[in-house]
Amino acid sequence: MFDTVLIVDWSGGNDRGTSPKKDAIWTGIARAGLAEDPVYHRNRQLAEDWISRFLAAEQAAGRRVLAGFDFAFGYPAGFGRGLTGTDDPFAIWDWFATHVHDSPSTNNRFDLAGQINARFPGIGPFWGNGLARDIPDLPRKGLARQGHGLPEKRAAEQQAKGAFAVWQLAGAGAVGSQVIMGLPVLARLRHRFGADLAVWPFQPLTPPIALVEVWPSLIAKTIAATCPPGAIKDAHQVRVLARALSALAPEDLARMLDVPATAEGTILGLDHVALLEQAASAPVLRNDCFALPQGVHWTPVDQALAHLRQHLPPVAGVQPQPLGAAAGHYLAQDVSALRAHPPSPNAAVDGYGFAGPAGPGAQSLTLVQGRAAAGQPFAGVVPAGHAIRILTGANLPQGVDTVVMQEDVQATDTAITFQGPLKQGANARAAGEDMTAGQIIARQGRRLTPADLGMCAAAGIGDVRVYRPLRVGILSTGDELRDPGSAIAEGQIFDANRPMLAALVRQWGHEAVDLGRAPDDRNILRGILDQGAATCDVILTSGGASAGDEDHMSALLAGTGSLALWRVAMKPGRPLAMGVWDGKPVLGLPGNPVAAMVCALVFAHPALAVMAGGDWPEPQGFTVPAAFAKTKKAGRREYLRARIRDGKAEVFASEGSGRVSGLAWADGLVMLPDAAMTISPGDPVTYIPFDSFR
Ligand code: AMP
Ligand code: MG
Repeated sequence: MFDTVLIVDWSGGNDRGTSPKKDAIWTGIARAGLAEDPVYHRNRQLAEDWISRFLAAEQAAGRRVLAGFDFAFGYPAGFGRGLTGTDDPFAIWDWFATHVHDSPSTNNRFDLAGQINARFPGIGPFWGNGLARDIPDLPRKGLARQGHGLPEKRAAEQQAKGAFAVWQLAGAGAVGSQVIMGLPVLARLRHRFGADLAVWPFQPLTPPIALVEVWPSLIAKTIAATCPPGAIKDAHQVRVLARALSALAPEDLARMLDVPATAEGTILGLDHVALLEQAASAPVLRNDCFALPQGVHWTPVDQALAHLRQHLPPVAGVQPQPLGAAAGHYLAQDVSALRAHPPSPNAAVDGYGFAGPAGPGAQSLTLVQGRAAAGQPFAGVVPAGHAIRILTGANLPQGVDTVVMQEDVQATDTAITFQGPLKQGANARAAGEDMTAGQIIARQGRRLTPADLGMCAAAGIGDVRVYRPLRVGILSTGDELRDPGSAIAEGQIFDANRPMLAALVRQWGHEAVDLGRAPDDRNILRGILDQGAATCDVILTSGGASAGDEDHMSALLAGTGSLALWRVAMKPGRPLAMGVWDGKPVLGLPGNPVAAMVCALVFAHPALAVMAGGDWPEPQGFTVPAAFAKTKKAGRREYLRARIRDGKAEVFASEGSGRVSGLAWADGLVMLPDAAMTISPGDPVTYIPFDSFR
């Protein structure tokens, strides 16, 4: 939607000098979730010039810009009409552009505010005077105002906790001066960029430049939590907000922008603070995230996995999801029960309810008229010594805490008899015995199962916040590859990995994006990676991952400075080429289909789960007797294609890693630990079914 986000932290004060300071003007830029270092501007004149040139450069580069400014774009209803005679918000902008006189060392904002006040009845609405001299019609105190007839706050400030009114021009936290000193700048930008610029929410945002009102304090929590010690908060917050907005999924940003076009204007994200916090607090993928510790020649599997677990952040955006369509999605926040389950004490069986306990021996109780059924509660009271007909799921009526099963009862129209004893509470469910209201029933990072949907529905949850499905680009590399079903020549083979990896990725709950095949040509591969990074969250490739002449994937990733060639102590496996391309992680699997699949299960499966917002998955294996004999050396882990027959683990006859048919023969893997071992038939081995990599 937008290629670039610019955030401007404005200031109503005078020149702040050459060295970066707080309360000056700071700008932050982010593209595709990656932020640049904030820029300091010592005064408004320099800042205006910089912003104007920046927007022109983005325009020339064909990039769409969302430019956020941290001051109100409008005033409370009625002000514009009183000042300019119309309700057009831009009339106020132009009025200020004409009347505000600004220079780095002095400006006329207090005098102007006094002159505006004089046009309105009573005293006010502006107040606060940062100057020593008194100004006609501008009270120093807000309480001195009366009868000016304007609302104190816009709807936005009423909703935003801690937001100041636009009328206050001086004093700690005041924002009124920023607005007066900011709107003329916006008015000039509007006139300079003409039809290429639109202002939210007054105009539709079709042009390439969009001006929006922002308020970093919406995400104050994350800003405070992430601000490095000694850093200037104004600088930090433009960086965080720019990155958060640029990291939002387009549909989430579209939702934030979808507000009524009132002349007051409003703050972007005001109704979507959780979404904004989420985007702001999401960890950033570092260029060196795949760099394994130096000096290790062969990395043990567990160490490689621990590295992925530690260094990969969730990268997918967040979206609300109707519960019915949420299975398979990863929860983006904890879910609490909205209601106890069961909500009231009720009957667990069909039978007769009474006040327990019942003593030993034959028991007789008089039946009351009526019955209690699920959804049709009995409104009366059941007196002591009486019983009532009750059906499974019916709320226990007053006077009832115990139910005797109908199979154990002789009943007439007026009485029942049964053999005691029966404990108090028998065959009854207590309110909240399953879930209590407010109890956390599912944690962030859980991949929702059909059973979770049942549980959440019982607890009254209609919508959940989930991570948007991870878009995984899938790419095969190699001159020799052709698509199955097409003509093939000497020296060529069919691309087995792409359909296999795409199906795996879908099975894991992600979206598979087909990036096709790349020949062994660096420029073509570069183009495909560019396209993949633009359309996917992560790229999964196979082939070309070693350090040979035709290993262009490694070579290209090396060019970004992010390449990590993982030599993992496992069989099957060749080096894995990990890296970051345009901010997107690239997982490069070996080309050999058996190695590609096993490495995908062992490494890509958990890595993608974490990037999709999930918990780190541990595939659950179990111990079974071996149906085979084998001796293995120390120092590397081995995964054998295996299946269970007659309660024992069989392995594929050949360990040859080119034998893709063995993958299809298998139902899972036998995992042999790093240490040396000799296995004889009947010895215990660990078997991991393919189904547990999900
Ligand atoms: P590479 O990692 O590119 O050196 O490839 C290792 C081996 O795997 C070579 O024999 C390739 O021909 C083969 N290979 C690579 N990619 C695929 C693929 N997508 N499908 C089938 N075989 C492949
Ligand atoms: Mg190759």
